[in-house]
Amino acid sequence: MDTLLLKGKPVADVLQSKLRVRIDELASGGTVPNLAAILVGDDPASKVYVRNKGRAFEKLGCKSQTYNLSIDTNEKEILDLIDKLNHDLDVHGILVQLPLPKSLDSQKILHFVSPEKDVDGFHPYNLGSLLEGNPAFIPCTPNGVLEILKYYDIHVAGRYAVIVGRSNIVGKPMFALLAQKFEMGNATVTICHTRTKDLPAHTKRADILIAAVGSPNMITGEMIKEGVDIIDVGINRVDDDSDKGYRLVGDVDTDSVMGIAHSVTPVPGGVGPMTITMLLVNTVLSAEKCRKLETAV
Ligand code: NAP
Repeated sequence: MDTLLLKGKPVADVLQSKLRVRIDELASGGTVPNLAAILVGDDPASKVYVRNKGRAFEKLGCKSQTYNLSIDTNEKEILDLIDKLNHDLDVHGILVQLPLPKSLDSQKILHFVSPEKDVDGFHPYNLGSLLEGNPAFIPCTPNGVLEILKYYDIHVAGRYAVIVGRSNIVGKPMFALLAQKFEMGNATVTICHTRTKDLPAHTKRADILIAAVGSPNMITGEMIKEGVDIIDVGINRVDDDSDKGYRLVGDVDTDSVMGIAHSVTPVPGGVGPMTITMLLVNTVLSAEKCRKLETAV
């Protein structure tokens, strides 16, 4: 079997060209979608993510500003900044870059972001609305996964999906999306984690396998069945002899699934490009909602 590589860039390009039309429309009414990103500390990977987000926003004619806070910033200072941004009518989206330093209460900080500006979709109000089947802002990475499945015409309804990983930002919302009565939902879904007994027994049954673990190359060809569609969310740095001193690999051992799987997302270049695009989607949506409210007054 020739395994299809599900690249993210063509999907992101189509979505971004559709977004351009909406951004131009907003601009003609004087609104420029604007994201405020809060980065605490100097984790190199987080810095790269935030910089890439800023670039993507500028490329599409949106605004973004990053609040670079030192690692010893206290909780009150961060909550004060979020409060200011919550009330700033020019800001449509607020993003708190994770992970936050261990000294901070991430949950408390994320809960402080106004649900109306929570373009990451991590606020309990937004996660709850998603579970209810009535989502406002859908977490970007799982939403990007759905767009990949849609673009490559991968059937979801009635199939058996296995998700490995149950984080709040990927595994759990992925479950909520695939299991519900949505256009790209109606799958039968199992979610696996570190307490799952005999992981391969589950992954071998999957028609759709989503790996969101954070463990390099852990899903191998021996753990899958023929014809499965695999989405590799993992992004892991492994040391090598290159100039950078590392390379990025996924949670799936791509070489070993080639020829067995029907399709697989590459790492890098699969789910990665989708996450930033879905952040743009949510920020533009937020700006449109604000515009509607302003024009209704
Ligand atoms: P996380 O919060 O660390 O969660 C990892 C999950 O994997 C946990 O639920 C954990 O189980 C489970 N797990 C760990 N080892 C396992 C094992 N051996 N067997 C079964 N389950 C296991 O990670 P995350 O934030 O969801 O991220 C997962 C990966 O996706 C990371 O590589 C991250 O960099 C990547 N990521 C990529 C994007 C993107 O844009 N492409 C976005 C977000 C994340 P327990 O709950 O039992 O601990």
